[in-house]
Amino acid sequence: MRRYSAFAIAREAARYHTGWERAWAAPEPKAEYDVVIVGAGGHGLATAFYLGKNYGITNVAIIEKGWLGGGNTGRNTTIIRSNYLQDPSAAIYEKARSLYETMSQDLNYNVMFSPRGVMMLAQTEHEIRGYQRTAHANALQGVTTEFISPERVKELVPIIELKGPRFPVLGALWQPRGGTARHDAVAWGYARACSDMGMHILQKCEVTSVQQEGGNVTGVTTTKGEIKCKKLAILVAGNSGHLAEMAGFRLPMESVALQAMVSEPIKPCMDVVVMANTVHGYMSQSDKGEMVIGGGTDGFNNYTQRGSFHHIEETVRALVETFPMVSRLKMLRQWGGIVDVTGDRSPIIGKTPLGNTFINGGWGTGGFKSIPGSGWAMAELVAKGEPGELSAAFGLDRFKEGRFIDESVAAGVAH
Ligand SMILES: Cc1cc2nc3c(=O)[nH]c(=O)nc-3n(C[C@H](O)[C@H](O)[C@H](O)COP(=O)(O)OP(=O)(O)OC[C@H]3O[C@@H](n4cnc5c(N)ncnc54)[C@H](O)[C@@H]3O)c2cc1C
Repeated sequence: MRRYSAFAIAREAARYHTGWERAWAAPEPKAEYDVVIVGAGGHGLATAFYLGKNYGITNVAIIEKGWLGGGNTGRNTTIIRSNYLQDPSAAIYEKARSLYETMSQDLNYNVMFSPRGVMMLAQTEHEIRGYQRTAHANALQGVTTEFISPERVKELVPIIELKGPRFPVLGALWQPRGGTARHDAVAWGYARACSDMGMHILQKCEVTSVQQEGGNVTGVTTTKGEIKCKKLAILVAGNSGHLAEMAGFRLPMESVALQAMVSEPIKPCMDVVVMANTVHGYMSQSDKGEMVIGGGTDGFNNYTQRGSFHHIEETVRALVETFPMVSRLKMLRQWGGIVDVTGDRSPIIGKTPLGNTFINGGWGTGGFKSIPGSGWAMAELVAKGEPGELSAAFGLDRFKEGRFIDESVAAGVAH
C-alpha cells in the first residue's frame, strides 16, 4: 500500500485526486483462518494489528456485522486519559495513552491525537479526597497528574463558573497529556494497516453461532457462511453477552445505552476536556467548534443505539450550573451507543470456558482511550494463549475469586 505523505497529497492534487487507492480491501471470506476476531471496533482492529505487528500472525479475519467502527468506536466522545486509581488499570490505560502519542506515525494515518489536557472537577469534599488519593496513586504508578486549585482551574478554563448554585468548583484532578483523538480515524487507521498486512476485514457479516468440538472452538457460523478458525477472539462491547451465550458461557456484565450530543459550532472557547462527575456532565470542543457533551448511562438495560429527550434535559441541566454559556447553545445532534458494564467497572480480558476462545469487553463508558493498550494486551493473550503482564489481573476468574479492580470512582460515570 502506498504511504500517505505530503508528497502524495501534492501528486494527487496535480491529478485531481484520481489516484488514491482504497484504504482497505473488501475480500470474500476464506474457509479457514488462524484467528477469527468478532467485532471490527477499535478493540478488534487493534488486536488484529498487534497480532500482525508483534507476533507475525496475519492469517486473520475481523468479522463485523455492520460497518467497521460503526459501534461505540464511532459514537464516543473521544476522551483519552490514564488517571485511574488501581495499579492494573493505570498500567493498561497509560500504555494506551503512550501508544496514542505515536499512533499517527505508527499507522501512517492522522488520528488527530490532541493531548490538550483532561480535568476532572472536584465539586464535593468527598471528591477532593478521592482525586487527591488518585493523584498520589498516579505519582507512584508513573502517571503524570496533579490536584490543582480552583484558581488554576479558572486559568485553564476561563468560561467556567467556579461558584455554581449547588456544587462550587473546589479543585480538579488534572492530566496535562490526556486529551482527545478522532475516533473514526483510529478505526480507519488500524483497518488500513491490517488490510495492508493481508488480513480480511469482513463487513456486513454477522456471527450467528459458535462451533465447537471436544471443548474447543472450531469456527463460527456467519451470514456469509461457515468460517473455521484455530482461535476465536470476541470483542463486541455491548453485544458481549450474546456472543458469550453463543459460545456457551455467561458474563458478569450489563448492556446499557450511553448517549452524547454536540452543539452548533462556535468560536474556540475551551481548549481542555472538562469532566464534572458530581453533576454528571462533561464537555470538550471539537476541531469544528462544536461543544461535545455527554453524561451518565441510561438507568435501564437496553440495546437502542439512539438518543432520548430526557438525556438532553438531564445532562444540559447539570452542565449549565458549571458552564452557564451552555444555556444559550443550540444542540445539533444526539446519538447513543451500547456499552458493556461490569460490576467493578473494569474490563475483562481473558480466556473463556471454551478452549482457544478469548474475550475482551466490559470497557463500559471508557474504552476508547484504551484501544491501543487493550489491543496490545489482547494480541499477546491470543498469540501465546496466556495473559501477559498488562492483562493478567483482568481475567474472568476475578469475579469468582473476589479479586475486583474497583474503578467505580474513576470510571463509574466518567469516560
Ligand atoms: C456516547 C458514548 C460516549 C463515550 N465516550 C467515551 C470517551 O469519551 N472516552 C472513552 O475512552 N470511551 C468512551 N466511550 C466508550 C467507548 O466508545 C467504548 O468503550 C469503545 O469504543 C468500545 O470499543 P469496542 O471496539 O470494544 O466496541 P465497538 O466499537 O462497539 O465494536 C464492537 C463491534 O462488534 C460488532 N458486533 C457485535 N455483535 C456482532 C456479531 N454477532 N457479529 C459480528 N460483529 C458484531 C458491532 O457491530 C461493533 O461494530 C463512549 C461510548 C459511548 C457510547
